Amino acid sequence: MSRGRISIVGAGPGDPELITVKALRRLEQADVVLYDRLVSDELLEHCPPGTLKIYCGKAPGRHALTQEEIDRLIVDYARVGHHVVRLKGGDPFVFGRGGEEALAASKAGIPFEVVPGVTSAAGASASAGIPLTHRGTAASFAVVTGSRCGDDGAPVRWDLLAQGADTLAVYMGVARLEEICGELIRYGRGADTPAALVENATTEAERVVTGTLGNIARLAAAMKVGSPAMLLVGDTVGIREKLQPVVSERYGAV
Ligand code: SAH
Repeated sequence: MSRGRISIVGAGPGDPELITVKALRRLEQADVVLYDRLVSDELLEHCPPGTLKIYCGKAPGRHALTQEEIDRLIVDYARVGHHVVRLKGGDPFVFGRGGEEALAASKAGIPFEVVPGVTSAAGASASAGIPLTHRGTAASFAVVTGSRCGDDGAPVRWDLLAQGADTLAVYMGVARLEEICGELIRYGRGADTPAALVENATTEAERVVTGTLGNIARLAAAMKVGSPAMLLVGDTVGIREKLQPVVSERYGAV
């Protein structure tokens, strides 16, 4: 029996065409695939007929697998000689817990690799026509989690980030928009700074809502923007208007 191994693979932001060639090859060789909620079903069709497919997210009437259970499963299947593909939305090392899985593989002495993916900030930026950097407008961008905003002992330094990067891409922020925007304003980012929410970026269901730091939370609530959505903050949001005709033609965005 060949030795088992683990590939921790990024599936890209939503559009199934935005997966890498290397990631597709891994799916074509997989004995076992453990996949997440945000991974397009179409991608699983690339697996050979005998591949065991395990869903790791929340299915109706069932609990999501815990991270510990996932770590154990990838290690156990690889140990008995399987090629295990851990398929995750976006990039595995950007808010994807890929690091924890790599550590589990390493600790168990199992060969592993990480195949990067297009992270959803890049996907949202491209499909909404909002550059993350732009000469003369934005020389830096930061990716930030919004899910810990408001928590006690929150590790996100909104005080430093508010003015520390020109463009901010906030993941997992849609449920706490008001708090996030409030923190950024509190720490000196202007309430009139352009802001956009890109929901279901790169998919046919993509919606874009634009406004300012001061009103985007209200606009998002009115439009019932839900997860997954990317909050982009900064002056490059204004560039979207000039790119809009071409972008909408390609992606059918609103
Ligand atoms: N590893 C992933 C991120 C996982 S965290 C990556 O690199 O993209 C999940 C968050 O990613 C969501 O809450 C949302 O903020 C963002 N996200 C994922 N897919 C998205 C999509 N298609 N459109 C907008 N945001 C998305």
